[in-house]
Amino acid sequence: MSEKNSASKQLKEKLFLKRKNSYFRMNDKELNASTKFAEKYKKFLDSAKTEREAVIQAVSLLEENGFVEYRKGMQLRAGDRIYRNNRGKAVLMAVIGSAPINEGVRLCAAHIDSPRLDLKQNPLYEDNELALFKTHYYGGIKKYQWTTIPLALHGVIVRADGSKIAVSIGEDENDPVFCVTDLLPHLATEQMSRTAGKLIRGEDLNLLIGSVPFRDDETSEAVKLNILSILFEKYGITEADFISSELEAVPAFKARDVGFDRSLIGGYGHDDRCCSFPALMAAIDCKNPVHTAVTVLTDKEETGSDGNTGLCSSYLKYFIYDISEELGSDGRDVLSASECLSADVNAAFDPTFPEVNEKNNCAYINRGVCITKYTGARGKSGTSDASAEFAGRIRILMDSKDVIWQTGELGKVDAGGGGTVAAYIANLNVDTIDMGVPVLSMHAPYEIISKTDLYMAYKAFSVFIAD
Ligand code: MN
Ligand code: MN
Repeated sequence: MSEKNSASKQLKEKLFLKRKNSYFRMNDKELNASTKFAEKYKKFLDSAKTEREAVIQAVSLLEENGFVEYRKGMQLRAGDRIYRNNRGKAVLMAVIGSAPINEGVRLCAAHIDSPRLDLKQNPLYEDNELALFKTHYYGGIKKYQWTTIPLALHGVIVRADGSKIAVSIGEDENDPVFCVTDLLPHLATEQMSRTAGKLIRGEDLNLLIGSVPFRDDETSEAVKLNILSILFEKYGITEADFISSELEAVPAFKARDVGFDRSLIGGYGHDDRCCSFPALMAAIDCKNPVHTAVTVLTDKEETGSDGNTGLCSSYLKYFIYDISEELGSDGRDVLSASECLSADVNAAFDPTFPEVNEKNNCAYINRGVCITKYTGARGKSGTSDASAEFAGRIRILMDSKDVIWQTGELGKVDAGGGGTVAAYIANLNVDTIDMGVPVLSMHAPYEIISKTDLYMAYKAFSVFIAD
């Protein structure tokens, strides 16, 4: 008897967990939609390399699509679309549902900050007639990956008179870029004997920014002076103004298709724009939901979520309290009845490094959005661990709407670990589970995701917030 019709084949079909590539499960229409979505996403990625820029892009898209800035006391009715901008670094949005608010909200939470090199507060110095910026890395990086690549500078400077200017240099083809140098292999005998964590040290991440001296033989630090003179001319700033600035060096490359089949996207900041953009688009495309749909694009996830724009702060809670009050309910009751997708990436299985994953419990490229019941390190330290009941509810919902999903945890037990904002939202007494796109080379200057997984994230978030 052929395997095709055997009883065991039928029984396997019935009993085994199905794992199948999305390309065998999506029809042409959906594959086209996924390609189109990826084009919009790449544009967002290029125009939103920092949390501030992501907020500017998000607010502009929200306003184009009928969202208005929420002010406390504003009357709210079903179908209303509102947003709140938290200090230009995080943004909340809501589409008011038809069900009473005390039945809870459907919350989708993603982050818009990514690992990068921040400038120190007194960054500029000259050494042997080269001008450099001292940096302090932000988030978890492999430091050696940030050398010898073109970097752009993004951020804001608050001048002595209180005026604020936005900076973005290195994105336009005609802009200069900046670079962290590395040793030539010929002279790297000592360096190459260090462990990888010390190959490039924190204080080696110095950004090369110029070499021309101010033409006056009498002066010392002439290269530094010349840089300050250029900056004064361009931005009207002096050296002291760096103290009140946030300047961030990020990879200067643009997002591009990867592979002969163009199925993948390479770019900076997929973590977590490949979840925050789908979450934003799901909110924008959400019309007349049953439960109020709340989406938060937050800052500071990569440094542990502390600070007033991170999700350990009360800004999300206050927003939900405010709209609950307006709709005649108690914020505590609303939060306690709410459900949340913590929309963050997971590591994709990499055939070059199979040893860090356990193959039955890791995420694969092109197998859909990844549901992660728990994160954490060692014995699940730091996790919120979603309940079986909530995992069941999400699984059934996703299946009922043909969302392609998989499940995976972050690597082998004791291989390392990590967390998301899930625990901070769960701590507000909200049922929370992680869901997001698998990423290759996570936290590298150039990360890779698949277009179908990105699209399934959009579909999953859309289905969830409309439910
Ligand atoms: Mn993340
Ligand atoms: Mn991350």
